[in-house]
Formats: sequence, structure tokens, C-alpha cells
Amino acid sequence: MRGRAFFVDGNPCPYCGKKLDATSNVDGTDKAPNVGDYSVCIGCGGVLVFEDRFKVREPTAAELEVALQDDTLRRTVETVLRLREQFEAAGRSRWVHPRS
Ligand SMILES: [Zn+2]
Repeated sequence: MRGRAFFVDGNPCPYCGKKLDATSNVDGTDKAPNVGDYSVCIGCGGVLVFEDRFKVREPTAAELEVALQDDTLRRTVETVLRLREQFEAAGRSRWVHPRS
């Protein structure tokens, strides 16, 4: 996440319940997400699709198949999962607060 952070009033991740409160581009650009853009939940590494007003939803099976062909998206998922595993292995109580 190298681009500008956009602080948003999003909805909970459909996988883990973490509320989307910020987003940024992994390619370093300062572009706000558009409807249909993919995202990765920092709470669980789940692949998400942006809808109107920064709301997110689960991708369809076809969308997920397309998304996982993108190297950057796949590496982002792997990074979130690896960091979360390291955090939990270090005995920390919680990777991210599910409602923050
Ligand atoms: Zn999640």
C-alpha cells in the first residue's frame, strides 16, 4: 500500500467482518477505487470488489478467477496472510480489530 490512503466509511468485510475504513493502491498511484476494482481485506486477506460509495462485496467465482491471475493482487493476499501469521505467532492477541 504505497499510494495515498483514502479514509472511507465502508461496510464490513463479508468474510471476517472487519469494517473497511481506508484503502490505498498497491501500485503507488493516488487514484480512488472505482466500481469493479479489486481490493484485499487487511483483516483476512479476502479478495473484495468495490461497489458504489466504497462498499465492498465478495467477488463472483468468475471475478475471483480473473483477480487471482493478477500477480500484484495475489502477492498482496499472500503478504496479508504472511504478516497476520507472523503477528499471531508472536503471541499478539489480534491482527486487526474487526470493527475498526
Ligand atoms: Zn476480511
